[in-house]
Amino acid sequence: MSKWNRSRQWPPYWPDITDPAVIQAMAAVPRHLFVPPEYRGEAYEDRPLPIGYGQTISQPYIVALMTQALRLTPQSRVLEIGTGSGYQAAVLAQITPHVWSIEAVPELAEAAQERLRGLGYAVQVKVGDGRLGWPEHAPYDAIIVTAASPDVPPALVAQLADRGRLVIPLGGDFWDQDLWLIEKVAGRLRKEHLAEVRFVPLVASAASLEPESPELAEIRRQLQILFERR
Ligand code: SAH
Repeated sequence: MSKWNRSRQWPPYWPDITDPAVIQAMAAVPRHLFVPPEYRGEAYEDRPLPIGYGQTISQPYIVALMTQALRLTPQSRVLEIGTGSGYQAAVLAQITPHVWSIEAVPELAEAAQERLRGLGYAVQVKVGDGRLGWPEHAPYDAIIVTAASPDVPPALVAQLADRGRLVIPLGGDFWDQDLWLIEKVAGRLRKEHLAEVRFVPLVASAASLEPESPELAEIRRQLQILFERR
């Protein structure tokens, strides 16, 4: 493509990434346009990179793994929490035109929205606390959280469609996080462990500490049972 080294194969071969739509999406998104200029030469290394405000653009393999776990079709409605650079959102938007993304840092949200628009991705970005989801566009077939959370925000589960899938890194400690897939089938939740990961933390806002509705309290109760320590 450009001088930003597509000389080597991109994406690299990852044995467990087998969904052709995901591989195609990874091949199509110009990652060098989502990192600060000083890191462009490293954009096609399989590593996270700094994007400012103490945040990072995720490692490409993890982006591919999370995207694949969502099992997207061109009809899927997807919500992302943690827009960051907009890279993950662009990968999602390669597969479906129905992508919404929430970012807590206004400057990152604005830069990502502009970048995505400039590249022709119809992703809608808003500034806010992703723990609350984006009820106006719910239900979602897939929700992807790209920052580590101590717990599963019940509002996100509430906004999942039937058979909807939520991919979320759980854990407070940077060195002890697990990536989970949670599926909602006929109102019941299932979980599947995907990988050990390291993400920057999801920040909570005052709004997410407000009292919960009975529906969210019930989801929280189910989640507690689902993730009970053995
Ligand atoms: N998906 C991004 C990487 C995200 S890094 C990419 O492809 O570049 C995690 C992002 O989550 C950061 O930008 C951080 O500001 C944001 N974030 C942290 N807590 C949040 C919250 N409660 N709501 C929304 N975004 C949040």
